[in-house]
Amino acid sequence: MTLLDNILELSSSWHKHLCPRQVLGARMGLAGAAALGLEIPRSDKRLLAIVETDGCFSSGLEAATGCSVRHRTLRVADYGKIAVTLVDVKTETAVRIAPQLDVRQKAYAYAPDEKKHYYAQLVGYQHMPDAELLTIQPVRLQTPIGQIVSRAGVRVNCAVCGEEIINEREMMWGERPLCVACAGPAYYMPEELVFVVKARKTCPDCQSASHSQ
Ligand SMILES: [Zn+2]
Ligand SMILES: [Zn+2]
Repeated sequence: MTLLDNILELSSSWHKHLCPRQVLGARMGLAGAAALGLEIPRSDKRLLAIVETDGCFSSGLEAATGCSVRHRTLRVADYGKIAVTLVDVKTETAVRIAPQLDVRQKAYAYAPDEKKHYYAQLVGYQHMPDAELLTIQPVRLQTPIGQIVSRAGVRVNCAVCGEEIINEREMMWGERPLCVACAGPAYYMPEELVFVVKARKTCPDCQSASHSQ
């Protein structure tokens, strides 16, 4: 078995299937770590992966690199893209890896007997050379790596809801720390407020946005 086979066996064991996205995740993990000159899989925290979608792709990436949410070495920046940025936390060197734009078509050349797109991609992505499959672009993070990783043991309480905030994720309101939800906008709204906001937003007569009678 090749190294890639081993990685895909691990990745697919988490899903009970193997799919082209897992293959891309595995290939990107291998190529990205090689570009950074780092050995994988890692059990330390030197390699940070920021994947641009969740799902099967991230499993392939995790199986190859050892980066995971539970180790705080895998993050999702949900752009809905099959791409990842790998960061060497020690040197702050980073590369963003994405598929070449025409990989779906190219895959057929590596799987001439496969008539279905899915299987052509599944086989093709395992055999295409890196240069044909991927783009690897040096990038710089907009947020310093020290700020992303933060420090262990740091905690404050939100001045509005009182809940504890770890990893320096608070936002300052003057001298007072606020959690992201209280600083807003949050990704959720308490159910008891949904009715209030809806009532305020639509006029019962014309159903348009609220206006004075
Ligand atoms: Zn899948
Ligand atoms: Zn709060």
